[in-house]
Amino acid sequence: MSETRQPPKHAPQSHYPVEGNELLIGGIPASRLAARVGQTPFYAYDRSVLGRRVQELRTALPQALSLHYAMKANPMPALVGHMAGLVDGLDVASGRELRVALDSGMNPQHISFAGPGKSEVELTQAVATGVLLNVESFREARELARIGERSGWTPRVAVRVNPDFELKSSGMKMGGGPKQFGVDAEQVPALLAEIGQLGLGFEGFHLYAGSQNLKAESIVEAQQKSFELALRLAADAPRAVTTLNLGGGFGIPYFPGETPLQLAPIGDNLATILDRAATALPGAEIVIELGRYLVGEAGVYVCRVVDKKVSRGHTYLVVDGGLHHHLAASGNFGQVIRKNYPVAIATRMDSTATEQASVVGPLCTPLDLLGERMELATAEPGDLVAVFQSGAYGYTASPRDFLSQPQPVEVLV
Ligand SMILES: *Cc1c(COP(=O)(O)O)cnc(C)c1O
Repeated sequence: MSETRQPPKHAPQSHYPVEGNELLIGGIPASRLAARVGQTPFYAYDRSVLGRRVQELRTALPQALSLHYAMKANPMPALVGHMAGLVDGLDVASGRELRVALDSGMNPQHISFAGPGKSEVELTQAVATGVLLNVESFREARELARIGERSGWTPRVAVRVNPDFELKSSGMKMGGGPKQFGVDAEQVPALLAEIGQLGLGFEGFHLYAGSQNLKAESIVEAQQKSFELALRLAADAPRAVTTLNLGGGFGIPYFPGETPLQLAPIGDNLATILDRAATALPGAEIVIELGRYLVGEAGVYVCRVVDKKVSRGHTYLVVDGGLHHHLAASGNFGQVIRKNYPVAIATRMDSTATEQASVVGPLCTPLDLLGERMELATAEPGDLVAVFQSGAYGYTASPRDFLSQPQPVEVLV
C-alpha cells in the first residue's frame, strides 16, 4: 500500500452553483433563503434539480417505459405535487401517502399501493379510490374480496412477488430468501388461482429486489431476472398481464469514494426487455419505481453554526440541527459503519482557508454528528452549513421530537 494515496473524496455536488461566496439553492443564495424561510434549520428542495433528473432519465431510458415516483423517499405535499407533473405514476405505502398522492392530482389509475400489513381501512381506501393494490399476502387477497363484495367496487390487484434471487451490491435487500415483503415466487401460482376464484381484477406483477444500488450491472441483472420470473408466473395468471413493475433500486453517491450510477447499460437492457415484452406480454405497461434517485440530490439540509469550540486540539462546529432532523446524515439510519454525507459551509463557498472540524448538533448524545473530522472552510457562529444528498429519507425519516428541540421546516424552491 502506498503512503501517498489520497483518501477517497465525495462525488462533486454539481447541482448547486456558487455566487458571491454563497451556495445557491433554487437560484437563491443560502443566507437570503434562510431569511426568506424565517428560520434554520430547514430542508430546501430545488425544482430545477428535480426537473433535470427526470429529463436525464427520460433521455437514457426507453420512451415507452413508465416512470413512477415512490413517495416514501419524500412525501412533502408540494414536492409530490411537483413530481406528479413530471412522472407517469406515484407509488404509495400507506393510507396517508395515498391522500397526498390524490391531492397532487395524479390519476388514481396511475397510483399503486405496496407494503406489508395494509390495514382493512387502507385496503378500503385504495379500493374506493381505484388505485392498483400490490397484494403481499393471501390475507390481503381475501380481505380485498370481502371489501369488493360489500362495496360493489372491483379491486385492482397486482401480485408483489418475493423473487428467488437477490439484488447484488444493494444498500438494502428487499427481496430473495425469507422476507416480509411480497409472496414467495413458489407460492404465487396458488395465490393467482385464488385471485381468479375471488374475482379480483388481476393486472400484473410487482417485483422489488432492493434499494440504494450504484452498480448498473447488478440492476441490469435484477431487472432481467425479474422479467424472466414474471414471464414464468404469467403462465398461471387468471388474465393477461397489463402491468409489470420491475422495481428500481437506483442509488445516489452519498459517501467518499462512491460514484454516480451509469444509466446507459440500464437503458439498453430495458430497451431489450420492452422489445421482448411487446411479444411476450402484448399491451403490458412496463414500470420502474424510483424514490431517492429522483429526489435525493434535489434536497439540501441547511443549519446554522451556533458555537465553535476546540476540545484537546479538535474543532467542533455546534449547529442548530442534527440527528433529530436528519437521522441518515448522522449515520444512524441503517448504516453499519458511519460515513460522512457531503457537507459544505454554504456561506463560505469560495474560501481558501480550511480547517478540520466535526459538525455536531445540540442533542446530548455523541450520536448527534453531521460531519466527523471533515476538511471544511473555516467557519464561525452565524455561518450556514449545507448537508447535500438530503432530498430523500430526511425530514420524515427522522425522530424530530427527540430531545424536544425546535422543528425543521421544508420548502420547495
Ligand atoms: C422503498 C421503496 C422504494 C423506493 O426506494 P428508493 O431507494 O428510495 O428508490 C420503491 N419501491 C418500494 C416497493 C419500496 O419499498
